[in-house]
Amino acid sequence: MRNKQSNGSSLVVMKFGGTSVEDATAIARVIRIVQSRSRHRRLVVVSALAKVTDQLVLMGQKAAMGDSDSIVQLVQGLRERHLQTAEGLLGTLSPKIAAKIENTFDQLKEFLSGVSAVRELSPRSSDYLLSFGELISSEIVTAAFVARGLDAVWVDSRKCVVTDGNHTRALPLLDDTRVKSQSALGPALAKGQVPVMGGFIAATREGTPSTLGRGGSDFSAAIVGAVMDAARIEIWTDVEGMMTTDPRLCPDARTIQRISFNEAAELAYFGAKVLHPATLLPAIQKNIPVYVLNSRNPKSTGTEITEHAPAGKDMFRAITAKNGISIVNVVASRGVMVHGFLKSVFEALDRHSASVDIVAISEVSMSFTIETKRLPQALISDLEKLADVTCDDQQAIICLVGEDIHGKPGIAASVFTTVADAGVNIRMISQGASEINISFVVKESDVPQAVRHLHARFFTAGRPLKSAIEKPGNGAQANGTRPRGTANRRARAPLAAKAKSTSR
Ligand code: ASP
Ligand code: MG
Repeated sequence: MRNKQSNGSSLVVMKFGGTSVEDATAIARVIRIVQSRSRHRRLVVVSALAKVTDQLVLMGQKAAMGDSDSIVQLVQGLRERHLQTAEGLLGTLSPKIAAKIENTFDQLKEFLSGVSAVRELSPRSSDYLLSFGELISSEIVTAAFVARGLDAVWVDSRKCVVTDGNHTRALPLLDDTRVKSQSALGPALAKGQVPVMGGFIAATREGTPSTLGRGGSDFSAAIVGAVMDAARIEIWTDVEGMMTTDPRLCPDARTIQRISFNEAAELAYFGAKVLHPATLLPAIQKNIPVYVLNSRNPKSTGTEITEHAPAGKDMFRAITAKNGISIVNVVASRGVMVHGFLKSVFEALDRHSASVDIVAISEVSMSFTIETKRLPQALISDLEKLADVTCDDQQAIICLVGEDIHGKPGIAASVFTTVADAGVNIRMISQGASEINISFVVKESDVPQAVRHLHARFFTAGRPLKSAIEKPGNGAQANGTRPRGTANRRARAPLAAKAKSTSR
């Protein structure tokens, strides 16, 4: 039978993010949460301690500039933080864990001085560098589990998750991963032990360390959950699940109790920070429910993500916003090469592997949106050979998601009227080909205003709009937690067809 093994208990994969393991107090909470799941076989995936990956990135940059003084200081700071965390949990450190921490940071220092000698950090070396965070956090968490009486064993993620060689944002090779994970994790799980592994890190078939892209620990949990036939995947974070919108933009935002795989994937892709966008793919393939839970408030039910979710009383499931978008307008010069114009533009996009979100087309012009940080200058230069090109930066995509909107007339009109009433100008519009989202482009600075009005209109029926719009938000990020790294967009393609444009 799926999800059950000879000892009869189902497998739960529990992933704890950076803030859930940020210090000794947080890790003590994690221990209690893992103990509370003792009816299940348990597999634990942890991130690096909060902010450690950012610091490793910084160290890599300093090293590549040959700044060895900063490196020594930064490594020392990180070493002390990890020693302190371990001491806070374990009291006096056993020689084994003390040596592990010291060795890890000695190796890190040595590696960085190598980088600073050659002044170069390749994607491959960067993956090696970033792997230190999860390698050491998982060791400390394992030692703490054991000290509190959990029969935990540390497992090397690089021996479980196999990826392609696309360093810094590798994709898993699931068949290889299944074979390796089952042999690395199966025996311990069968004995009732709790394997603990670092998220985000993996290795290629040749054994070279790789990573799944920033924020990739969620993805790791879903990958091992899928190949190990888990009954549920729990993503433990520091917010109350997925929310109807970013609570910092809109104080009336509330937790979404149930949401479908497709809706959640759409939200993650369009800016919800709480879940890595690729996380749901392995879960969808095996139809494994995913829960987003709050490690600071383990009793709350968080968000349940399943194949189908019952319609709620709201028309939409959530509103999200993604900042840092550019609109690129490509207009064929008068009288020039109308025939074949679009084909040439698409070919240029393809040559530069440009991932566009919203597209608006006429016979002689095309506008598209792209994340500003993913817009190569070389693409602009190529397009300039074909046509006149202008770019508008500091734009944002606001996206309303809900499976319920399918086939209901008048919804788009009421969305756009609401935005117009908020005094916000819409630059481009798209209604999803998947029919579960309506998205449009506004100026970044208009995001808080537009989102608060939309939330008041579609989620807080009966509340005076004023209460929803008076409190200022920071306008920075949408849906969920703190700003985080890049989305893994390639992985989204099989989920839902791309948005199609209706007008500009
Ligand atoms: N530590 C990695 C990062 O900060 C992976 C993760 O936390 O999910 O990106
Ligand atoms: Mg995360």
